[in-house]
Amino acid sequence: MNSKWRPELDRGQVDLVLDNIDEGEVIGFLCDLIHLESVNPPGDVAVGVELCRRLLDQVGFDTQIVGPSAEHCSLIATLAGHSGSPRLLFNSHLDVVPIGELASWHFPPFGAERHDGRIYGRGAADDKASVVAQVMAGIALARSGVSLTGSLIITEVADEETGGDLGSGFLVDNELVQADYVIIGEPTNGVLCIGERGRVVVELTVIGSTGHAAAPLTGVNAIEVMGLVISALTMDLWPQITSRQHSVLPASTATISFVTGGIKINVIPDRCTIQIDRRIVEMESVDSTVAEIRETAERAIKGIRGVAIQTKKLIGRSSRLIHPESRVVEAAQHASRWLGHEPLLGGFFAGSDAKHFARRNYSTLIVGPGDPDTAHTSDEWVAVEDVLNATRLYALTALTMLN
Ligand SMILES: [Zn+2]
Repeated sequence: MNSKWRPELDRGQVDLVLDNIDEGEVIGFLCDLIHLESVNPPGDVAVGVELCRRLLDQVGFDTQIVGPSAEHCSLIATLAGHSGSPRLLFNSHLDVVPIGELASWHFPPFGAERHDGRIYGRGAADDKASVVAQVMAGIALARSGVSLTGSLIITEVADEETGGDLGSGFLVDNELVQADYVIIGEPTNGVLCIGERGRVVVELTVIGSTGHAAAPLTGVNAIEVMGLVISALTMDLWPQITSRQHSVLPASTATISFVTGGIKINVIPDRCTIQIDRRIVEMESVDSTVAEIRETAERAIKGIRGVAIQTKKLIGRSSRLIHPESRVVEAAQHASRWLGHEPLLGGFFAGSDAKHFARRNYSTLIVGPGDPDTAHTSDEWVAVEDVLNATRLYALTALTMLN
């Protein structure tokens, strides 16, 4: 996979491809997609998928729309090369998260207004800039007339913001796409992310016993005991966790993001439950992550009679890293340098659809335009120049790999 292959580009071919990237067309298409309000839930992306399909169909891609429903659909567009090998797959998502409080936006969330070289709107960075850059890169390659050996498969999908089972997961589970290499478009500020942390979600319940609130000692108050457990987790365990880092991935993190408990104001609560979101690095396993939470909680309640702890793993996924000498990474680095940027390798800060392709062991790189800090916030934006740079990067990476 990373044997004697050396990335190469031909100046004449590069010029042919780059000449077919037009700022007006790229940014016009980005604004069209932002206007669509493809908020998830409910996550209807049908119009956006059809817009991408039509553009790629016009330049010679073989296109099909698939999915579990008309709303939760995804595009598969293929530009087949002479030998069909290798197969490079582009993937980004067309759904966006809700806007939150409208009052906290200074620009209309779906207005796609342009100010100071930036386009503002929900999905500008996450993830419509990547969708646009991938589609426009495909169009530039097709229009250039450069003959390709390998195949380019462009998938623009539904449902990433709720886990991707109806989008990328659907494509992978039903074997609708096969690839050798995958490039996931997400806002990474152009950093070549060769992996992402794993994710473990743990539900922890303190079980006490009910009693009359007027006589608190007749029961064991699960909410008050949970207070001790939360203190132990946040004061003792979290500081150890956040010091764990040893490669390009962001450090390990932990946070309690859900709490439930209580029956009635005059009843001692017998149950209190929290959910813990852990992002884990290479040195941590799913099992050890659950175990250390449980052990910390058990230490915190030691000596308290009539209390039990239950833990349940709701999500358990290890971290994922591809080899930095994978052909897709070397091609993207080569394309970056050709465009005058020194490539940075890193790890993606959040989760992405890469997890679905990782199940098939496709060598998967995450890179795209936009600042990750602007994703899911009000006044989300992406710089026009970054969208154009990403379009060029995707196009030249594909040219390097498929030619
Ligand atoms: Zn995203």
